[in-house]
Parts: sequence; structure tokens; C-alpha cells
Amino acid sequence: MAMNRIQFQPGLSMSEFFSLYGSEAQCEAALQAARWPAGFVCPDCGGAARTSFVRRGLRYWECGACSSQCSLIRGTMFEATKLPLNVWFMAMQLLTQSKNNVSALELMRQLGVSYRSAWLIKHKIMEAMRQRESERELDGRVELDDAFLGGQRSGGKSGRGSENKVPIVAAVQTTAQGKPLLACLRQQPHTSEQVAVFAAQHLSTRSIVVSDGLQCFRAATLIGVDHERVVTGGGRASVELAQFRAVNTLLGNLKTAITGTCHAFNFAKYAHRCLAEAQYRFNRRFDMRAIFGRLLHALVAAPPCHERAVRAAEVCRQSGRRIKVGRELQARRLQSTEAHPAARPLRLPDRRQAGNRLAGAGDHDLLAGLHAFEQGGQAGLGFIDVDVHARASRLVRSLSI
Ligand SMILES: [Zn+2]
Repeated sequence: MAMNRIQFQPGLSMSEFFSLYGSEAQCEAALQAARWPAGFVCPDCGGAARTSFVRRGLRYWECGACSSQCSLIRGTMFEATKLPLNVWFMAMQLLTQSKNNVSALELMRQLGVSYRSAWLIKHKIMEAMRQRESERELDGRVELDDAFLGGQRSGGKSGRGSENKVPIVAAVQTTAQGKPLLACLRQQPHTSEQVAVFAAQHLSTRSIVVSDGLQCFRAATLIGVDHERVVTGGGRASVELAQFRAVNTLLGNLKTAITGTCHAFNFAKYAHRCLAEAQYRFNRRFDMRAIFGRLLHALVAAPPCHERAVRAAEVCRQSGRRIKVGRELQARRLQSTEAHPAARPLRLPDRRQAGNRLAGAGDHDLLAGLHAFEQGGQAGLGFIDVDVHARASRLVRSLSI
């Protein structure tokens, strides 16, 4: 059997890791280089440093312009942590270099910290990964499939039986020959409106979607993509079809990686982060050595997410209500929402197929607005506005997809 070059590539070995990040000073230097490669920049006003000093073992910089003081971790995902950076770095190494998911319990043992600390570190890292992947857009040939996480589709109660079973949609961008390139995984119901939202967020209008006969996938054409339906008889035969090899392999690996290691994982509450973690690693699997450095940048760029927010995120997302979780987070979310339309062209310019179905510019704007809103929401805590959802649902129903 030919050697799989992706599977056999060298990663960042433990000995290399310890020589690079073995001491607290090395971790601090790496974090500083990732955050301020050209020297300290005040997060409040963008000014340069006047002075720096050490207080309670932590280095602070004082801004020359506004006199505010800032530590290395303030304003990043590391904010408010009481653990040494070294522990964080080890967690990052473990989470990025193993193929399977590493449970919080395993992390607790490996890092020598309490379960609560291990759980928090893991979820904060997963949250940073989720934010990094929230704008993932697939192009070209895309295999689309539905699945349930936290249980098998066959066996037991079919589909929605278990409470800890969540519906997900998996999309894999492949080469023309069907080799997997990038993936996008989302926790969402298998309904037309949700698939339309998924397509608007994560599929380029130039993509060609390949799916089975499930009715809701037709909604992807709303954004103008070409849709190739392969109606299968279901069961084992459909799993072996060449048209779905990439997405089926991904789903198979995902179930092995997650279900095998996280027995006590609360999928109903945290599946969105769990999926994002798998997606993050899958989309960076071509360069296992670089993934650690990229994750460090993701953690530096992510806004702080304190324990309350980490635990409340999904509850909040499901209920659609907004709760106040720190002014900074709110401000960043708003900035991101406002910045979005200018930052990227709207996703619905091509009306090749959608043209006949869309009633007018209002609907077009609604879906684009929904897209922008959700992108902004995901930059913060994953808020979804119920009103926007309801309007999008009505729109999709009116188009009778
Ligand atoms: Zn300043």
C-alpha cells in the first residue's frame, strides 16, 4: 500500500517542543514575538512603550501615550489565567499533534493540573480554533452530507433519539478527482433554511455541491451553486459510493476521534467547539510542524473568553438571547459585524440559478445581512439573532425549497 504522505509527515516532536518551549522564559518570548513582532503596541491607543517592569512575576508595559499598563496576556485568550504559560503551551502541543481528540481528563493527567483547569484550557483553545474557522469558505467540488454526532445513524433510535446526539452538516472541498482538501463542519438541524444559511456562509457561489437525495440540500442552490444530487438507496451502499468518499472518510474519522475519547462530553452543549477543533486540525493537516505556531497566533488574536462565557456560550447561542459577557467582547463583536460588509463582497452576486427564485433585492439583502450578522456573532460568542433566523426561515419557505 502506498505511503500516505500526510499521515507520515514529521510533526513537532516532544524533544523539539521542549527545546523550543521548555522554560517559562521561552514561552513568554514566543508569545511576545507572536503578539508584538515589532515591539510593544498599546492595545488601547496603539502607542509605543514608555517603560516595562515586572510585577508579581508578570511583565507589564506602560504606554508612552496613554499611560495604560498592559501585560503580555491581557486582551488575548490567555487573559486571567493563573497557570504558567508553559502549561498552556503543553496543552497546545498535545491538542495539535495527536490525531485523535484529547479529552479534558487526559489533559488533566498530562499537564498535572486540576480537571477544571484542564477543561477550561481545552475549551479556550477550542474557542480560538472556532473563531479562526468561522469564516471558512469552500470552493470547487464540495461533498455535502448530514450526520449525527454523539451516536451512530444506524443502531439505537434512528437519528434524533438520544438527547446527547446532535445533527451536523459536513462539507468537504475536494480536487476534481475527489481528493479531500478542506472541510467545514457545523452543528445544525437538517432543514432547508439551515442549509441555505450554511451555504451562504461557507460555500463560494462558484462551487459545485455533490450531495445525496436528502431534500434539504437543495436549498444550497439558493446562493447560486451548481448541485449534483446522487440519489442513493441509503444504508451501507451509500457509504461506499465514490462520490462521497471524502466526506464519508472525514465523518468516519471524526466519529472515531471524538466518540472514542470523549465519553463524558456534553455534545448537546459544546458540539460546535468540538467540531471546530476537528475542522481546524483537518484544514491544517498538510503542515503538522507549522500548526503549533499558527495556534499560538490564533490564541493571541482571539478576544478573552472568561470561564463564565466559556460555559455560557452554547446556552446563549441556543436560546438566541444576548447576555452581557464583558464590554470588550461586546465591542469586538460589534466592530466585526460592522466591518464585515466592507471587508468582503456579499456572497450572493451570482444569480445564475437563484435568480428565478429570489423574489427581489430585499431577499438578497436579507440573506447577505444574515450572513454578515452571523459572522460578526461568531467572532464574539456565537450569538444568533432569533429575528434574523425567523425571517430567513420564512424566506426559504416562501421559495418552497
Ligand atoms: Zn496607550
